[in-house]
Amino acid sequence: MSASSEKYEAVIGLEVHAQLLTRSKIFCGCSTEFGAPPNTHVCPVCCGMPGVLPVFNRRVLELAIRMGLAAHCTIAPRSIFDRKNYFYPDLPKGYQISQYETPLCKGGYIELPGDGDNGGPTRIRLVRIHLEEDAGKNIHAPDCSLVDFNRSGVPLTEIVSEPDIRTPEQAGAYLRELRSMLRYLEVSDGNMEEGSFRCDANVSVRPRGSDSLGVKTEVKNMNSFRHVEHAIAYEIERQIELLEAGERVVQETRLWDPDRGVTRPMRSKEYAHDYRYFPEPDLPPLIVPPDLVEQIRIAMPELPAARRARYTSEMGLTPYEANVLTQEREIADYFEAVLPGLKNRKAAANWVMTEVLRVVNESGRGVAQSVPAPAEVGSLLKMVEDGAISLNAAKTAFAAMCKSGKNAKATVSELGLLQVSDEAAIAAACDEVICAEPAKVAEYRGGRDKLFGFFVGQVMKAMGGKANPKIINEVLRRKLAAS
Ligand code: ADP
Ligand code: MG
Ligand code: ZN
Repeated sequence: MSASSEKYEAVIGLEVHAQLLTRSKIFCGCSTEFGAPPNTHVCPVCCGMPGVLPVFNRRVLELAIRMGLAAHCTIAPRSIFDRKNYFYPDLPKGYQISQYETPLCKGGYIELPGDGDNGGPTRIRLVRIHLEEDAGKNIHAPDCSLVDFNRSGVPLTEIVSEPDIRTPEQAGAYLRELRSMLRYLEVSDGNMEEGSFRCDANVSVRPRGSDSLGVKTEVKNMNSFRHVEHAIAYEIERQIELLEAGERVVQETRLWDPDRGVTRPMRSKEYAHDYRYFPEPDLPPLIVPPDLVEQIRIAMPELPAARRARYTSEMGLTPYEANVLTQEREIADYFEAVLPGLKNRKAAANWVMTEVLRVVNESGRGVAQSVPAPAEVGSLLKMVEDGAISLNAAKTAFAAMCKSGKNAKATVSELGLLQVSDEAAIAAACDEVICAEPAKVAEYRGGRDKLFGFFVGQVMKAMGGKANPKIINEVLRRKLAAS
């Protein structure tokens, strides 16, 4: 960090658009399916034909309330849809239906995982979560521009944070947590490549210790967490350099250019009055019956933060381990299904974090399609605990099981991985080695302790690598001590 960047502190607020997992759009019955041929999921409503009326999709409400409750927001019993007016080719009505003064959810916070070093969890407060419809998509071909309205009218929530974020890494952690929560809740698939999770970053800097806010810029066009972190880091440096040179930060919207690794101006900042917001006359106020909120509250799944707390306090895992295991609900469920019958939870955690996650990530498929059922991994780990197989043998068996789909017991016996724990057999092998190496035995007994490893190796070799190392150790120590 340069001297000048120590003089300043960054202030970051994020606006996230998450596409809700509904089958149909927010104000019409068209499908929300991604990747269909252009303009095949369209109707007069989502194409903005005159004379049509929007009809609100109730499922949208349930999903948004679920997220609102998970983020500790206050759910407004009555909220309003507004028209946000602007002209753009992908917006056929000339306005977007959104929520302005009275959003569905207010306040609340997202709790970021503690990393163990900087202490406990950090809370990032939310301003609001509101509902809106997506716009279409402009496609720029070499000699013309085209518009695809399949996305027009797809339901979104916009999740707006307070400017509580201080570093690019914290922004990344916030986004990962948000995405993880949305996926646990089955509110959104959080797919950044398909645009169902998009983030705009508001960035300003101020002298460290100041509590007023500096002039901010808004950065758009980042389609991965890494891009967001890079873009924010770049923007912080750029603003500090301006201030250090005695210049001012201009309030504007900037685009992240991932190829050049810079942000560049896109347009001057638009203000709320530019949008001439007014209540949508074609939709009644959005009324939330109190018992609906209660129904949703009761059915909430355990969220990542609660799981992390349970893993660290009840299982003794580190914050890091708890974080890795809980990011995806599928993985956390898998881990918990490995546990029954096992004493060593740490070993199970390690196994899932390394072996299971590696195979899942490499396969690019779901957990169920790429790794054996969790009970089978549990049974492998139980064999390790009982000394029936070595950890290495378990890895070999696991790799084979991923390919063959066979169970743990069959695989271990087919591959001949069972460890010999038969003390008599091991003792016989030890005797053989001791007889074959009289010179080394004498050296060892004369005080060269280091030779012990050599004897273990020889015995292991004599037993085809399958003897229980713990027993070899015990027997050898006894036999070599006795002279
Ligand atoms: P705008 O009117 O420009 O959209 P808002 O007040 O609605 O601004 O805030 C939009 C986002 O910008 C929020 O996430 C908020 O936390 C963040 N924000 C507001 N002021 C600042 C600032 N000075 N620096 C960084 N982020 C800010
Ligand atoms: Mg804004
Ligand atoms: Zn439609």
